[in-house]
Parts: sequence; C-alpha cells; structure tokens
Amino acid sequence: MEKDKKYNLEGVTLKKFFQEELETMETAKIKAVQEEKFLKQFKFVYGNNAYYRKLCDKKGVGLDDVKCMADIAKLPFLTKADLREAYPDGLLCKPLADCVRIQSTSGTTGKRVVAYYTQHDVDLWEECCARAIVAAGGTKEDVVQVAYGYGLFTGGAGLHGGSHKLGSLTLPMSSGNTERQIQFMQDLGSTILCCTPSYAAYIGEKLHEMGFTPDDIKLKAGIFGAEPWTEEMRQNIQNSLGIKAYDIYGLTEISGPGVAFECEEQTGMHINEDHFYAETIDPETGEVLPEGSEGELVFTSLDKEAFPLLRYRTRDLTVLTREKCSCGRTFVKMKKPKGRSDDMLIIRGVNVFPSQIETVLLKQGYTPNYQIIVDRIGNEDTFDINVELSEEQFRKIGDDVDIANKNLTAAFVQMLGIRPRVHLLAPKSVVRSEGKAVRVIDKRKLHD
Ligand code: ADP
Ligand code: ZN
Repeated sequence: MEKDKKYNLEGVTLKKFFQEELETMETAKIKAVQEEKFLKQFKFVYGNNAYYRKLCDKKGVGLDDVKCMADIAKLPFLTKADLREAYPDGLLCKPLADCVRIQSTSGTTGKRVVAYYTQHDVDLWEECCARAIVAAGGTKEDVVQVAYGYGLFTGGAGLHGGSHKLGSLTLPMSSGNTERQIQFMQDLGSTILCCTPSYAAYIGEKLHEMGFTPDDIKLKAGIFGAEPWTEEMRQNIQNSLGIKAYDIYGLTEISGPGVAFECEEQTGMHINEDHFYAETIDPETGEVLPEGSEGELVFTSLDKEAFPLLRYRTRDLTVLTREKCSCGRTFVKMKKPKGRSDDMLIIRGVNVFPSQIETVLLKQGYTPNYQIIVDRIGNEDTFDINVELSEEQFRKIGDDVDIANKNLTAAFVQMLGIRPRVHLLAPKSVVRSEGKAVRVIDKRKLHD
C-alpha cells in the first residue's frame, strides 16, 4: 500500500500491545482481578469520603454488605448532579497534598466539574492512552501530533501523556491554527493525529483546500474521540486524510480519554477493564441490563486514589459485547456510543439523535458541516437543518437546488419519521469545529 512505502517499517518491531499480559488476560482472570480491586476500592472510598458514606447510609449499605463483585448492585449511583453538589472536592479521597493535577470537563451539558489526580492516577490514565496509541499501530518510532485542546480539557493532556509513555515523538500542537497543523504535519513527518473527529474532518478539508493530497503527508492513523461520530464520518476522514481512523472514548470524571479504545478491527472499543468496571443500565429504572442490550453506561473505577467514582452514570448510550476479538485483546467492547441520553432531541414527540442526521447527510454525499436548529413557536416545534454544500456541489447545483432539497428532505423523513426544513447553504457558511462540535441549537431551552 502507498502508505506503507512512506512509513518505513524496516527495522521497527511493531508491538501489538502496550501491556500484553494485562490486555489479553483470560476473562475469568479479568473477573477475579476486578473483584479483588473492587472490594479494596469500595473500602477505601467508604472509609475516606464522607459524602459517599452518606449516600451509602441513605441506601442502607454498609461495609459488611459488600463482599463480592455482584454486591455492586447494592451500591448507589453517582451522577453529574452529585459531582456538582460536591464541587469542587467533596468526592476527594486523598489529602490535597497528595494530588498533583486537576482537570475539568468541557461543560458540554452545563456547569463544569473538576477531577483530581495523584501521580498514580495520572500514570494509570496515561497508560490507558498508550494502549490506545499502540492499538492504532503506534510505536516509539512514531510522531504523534496532539491536536486536542490542551489545558483543563483532558484530551490534550491524556494523549500527550500516553505518547510520552510509549516513547513516541510528541508534537503538542493543541487545537486550532489549522494551516500550521498541516505545515507541521508535513515538516515534522507526523504519522499519528489525535483530535476530535470534527476537527479531523476540518483538517482533511483544509489539506485539500491548500492543494495537497494524502500523498503529501506521512499520516497513517488517527485517534479521534471526545464526541460522538458516525461510521460515515469515519469513511469521510479516512478518505480525506488517507489514514485509518480509530475511535477513543473517555470522560474526565473517570480519568479522561482512554477509558476505552478501538483496535484494528474497528468494531467497537475495548474498555480497560483492569481499571474500570462497566455496567449498562436501563436509564429509567436503573436496572442492570445483560451484555448485548443497549443501555446507559455506568463506570466504577477499580484502582484510583484521588477521585475514584463508584457506579458513575455517564448518560452515554451503548451496548457491551464480549465476543472474541481478532486483535487478541480480551477486554469487553463497547459499541460507538450514539450520543448521550441528553443529546437526544425530542421534536414533535419523536426522538432524534444528531448522529442520525450525520448518517443521512454523509450517505447522500453532503459535507459533515451541518447544524440543527430547534425552536418552539406557539405549541409547535420547528426543526431546521442547515446543510453546507461543497464547492463542487455549489458549482454544479444551479437550478437543481429544489430537487436536491426535496431528495434530502425525503431521506430525513425516512430516517427520522418527521420532516425538517432543509436549508442548503453556500460553502463555508457553517462554522468549523476545532474541538467538540456544536451541532445543535435548541432554542426551546431559552424559553423554559
Ligand atoms: P463533558 O461531559 O463536559 O463533555 P468531557 O470532556 O469529560 O466532559 O467529555 C466526556 C463525554 O464526551 C463522554 O461522556 C461522552 O458523552 C463524550 N465522548 C467522549 N468520547 C466519545 C466517543 N469516542 N464517542 C462518543 N462520545 C464520546
Ligand atoms: Zn480488538
């Protein structure tokens, strides 16, 4: 393949795993490790955190009630509301003097919450990110361009640390200044790009706009996450940058990116089960669901020190599967989350996920530059989708704009069951994302 020629693998031993022994443990062994760590972690949190102890008391759960992994079902859930109530350090389990770092959520769904880390917690997190980089084909010979935002956001810090742990050459670009991203990519021979998928799509667009093709860069892989993205978006990015695009998932509350990561199979993300215990629950009743059915993901950290959360409700909807993976990893896999339960829009009584709109658009050959605007006029919800045309579509469309609009509207009706008003816009009308894309403007919230 063209890419292999550019990326000279001669003399490089490709490692398949960052921590093989852990990443390929037999399932029975994983379960034993999890149980042992869980019992210890529960005792530690219960013994060191008054806020958590109070929650347990309220549920009537004490130290003696938790004797095996299955007893986790007795524990209360933690939610973002708890984190806001306990803000900033009510859930801390170590003295501040033992902490070395604070990071914060992006505040996508409201007030930011903060998480604390000891050096042990940072190491654990960075190792998870190193596992993700290796799973994407990374070695110490790679040049890893980190174009996630640096700062309080965990994206930059996590992948940066993971790249260091692996010994790759790390390029701490942060997000933004897209032309410079491409120039450095060329000058310094970046082979792996880490950023949000929406920013990767923008970098791909810019590359072509600057008159280059994927043959002008050495990039072979990308590790993209921090926001939901569809399979269609993956194809779009893989084509425009000439790479293999891997998904990575995580959240600040649990540590950051790298809680789960994709392998070469690209059929879901392996959850780092030696550190995080995953459950899926019915979001309405809180009942634990069997593997294989879609539910809200709940995480319990197993060996953290400063900010260990037990049964934290992520609000992310996904499916867990333990089917054998060809990569050799044995960790349970989570499907691409289709978004958070709170990303779901209810428009005229119908559930709509932004990812469904992205799927339709890209399947119909449109750009991933779109915005959804919902409002309420009187008692009626209005639903508009702004769709940007590519330069080529814009040039060719001429008198056919009405037909194009009609066809696209029909495709949305088929996918969603309701009719949006579609607006086909000139190139560059929709603002580009350098971090987490803002796809939805729900003006109804302003009226509440
Ligand atoms: P915030 O909750 O304020 O956005 P974070 O920056 O910690 O704070 O983001 C974590 C959230 O980002 C996750 O709960 C999830 O909703 C989303 N997310 C992260 N990675 C992915 C991914 N690969 N696919 C879909 N959603 C993701
Ligand atoms: Zn795998």
